[in-house]
Amino acid sequence: MKGPHVRQIQNYVCHCLGLKSYFQRPGDGRVHPHIPARDLVWAVVIGHVLRVTSFLRLEWLAHSPARAELGIKSDFGDDALAYCTARMDPETTRVAVAAALRQAKRNKAFENSRFIGLALDGTGAGRTYKEPCPLCDPVKDAQGEGHGSLHHFVLISVVGAGLTLPVDVEPYGPGDSEYAAAQRLLRRAVEHLGPRFADYVVGDGEYATAPFLHTSGEVALPVVARLKENLPLLAAAVRARFDGQPPQAVFQEGDDRVEVWDYDHFDAWETLDWPEVRVLRYRQHKRDGTVIQAEWLTNFPIIKLGSLSFYRMAKSRWEIENGGFNDGKNRYGMEHICHHEPNSILIVWLLILLALVIERLYRLRYLHRGEHGIRSAMDLLTYLWLSLGSRSPPGTG
Ligand SMILES: [Zn+2]
Repeated sequence: MKGPHVRQIQNYVCHCLGLKSYFQRPGDGRVHPHIPARDLVWAVVIGHVLRVTSFLRLEWLAHSPARAELGIKSDFGDDALAYCTARMDPETTRVAVAAALRQAKRNKAFENSRFIGLALDGTGAGRTYKEPCPLCDPVKDAQGEGHGSLHHFVLISVVGAGLTLPVDVEPYGPGDSEYAAAQRLLRRAVEHLGPRFADYVVGDGEYATAPFLHTSGEVALPVVARLKENLPLLAAAVRARFDGQPPQAVFQEGDDRVEVWDYDHFDAWETLDWPEVRVLRYRQHKRDGTVIQAEWLTNFPIIKLGSLSFYRMAKSRWEIENGGFNDGKNRYGMEHICHHEPNSILIVWLLILLALVIERLYRLRYLHRGEHGIRSAMDLLTYLWLSLGSRSPPGTG
């Protein structure tokens, strides 16, 4: 078999990413399983790589002539997928995703990056009008009228390292908060990835509050967070210092001209246990004339991090939107609820993360070495479907 193929991906996953034992024992909680969990879990993962995102369509794949080529030994129904995912232990999959990322780092997947970041952000997905599950958060309009429910979660992702690789998710239902979920998620992700995996944490303005900044300190990671008006005293001090002053430096970054102001002796606010706060203001001039100005705070010392690197860390936050939520929802089925049960929803989200990690590392780091001419996700997707000999084109599922 020449060129990319599902079996080659399976080989890559088992031998290069070290996930063979995970697929043999993926945390199956069923008492008398008829269908091996390995088949079901691999089907969900490779199904999402192929953008087959509903359990019914996975059942169709498992009954198709392509089953053997997909590395799936037994066929199954969508009910088996629902039953198994509702009973799997999420911790096993979380540990496996982190182990794959650690292996990728050892395999030099990030070798051109000086700093590896972890970005966090929350979102809602899986809008439903059905009977609510415990994770269902009612959506209400300004008049208090109900419009179904959403399932909320925080995502943490590797950013700033040349490729965006999701790490873990933490759901938060009614009575919980994005903020509390993000702190649990950061602690767990660093525990799984190891203390020296990443170099910084990045988040938007909601994360620029003392408890979250202290959590980053507990896991020994410097933090870069957007400064907004939720910190009025610091925002005023920044204006007083930077407004009307010429920029301290100007960089050419791609097509953009970037002016920066950078100062590291602002007073910490009352509840924050930092000795002082460093703030960067940037004014980014795009070629089309648009100007974007923003301020970011950090506890990264100036001596270890120049203004341009600080700017790049701030900008790396966008990767979680683009390579995380947008790709995850629009292409890989994160928006779709396969089986409306909390554990199953979580397991499917985690398996989507694993599928994204596998697809990106395989395409951008493994195939990259060959001369296949495959660069984009769409190229790989088309190639895989052609190699399966399927007469069904990839659906939008
Ligand atoms: Zn629900």
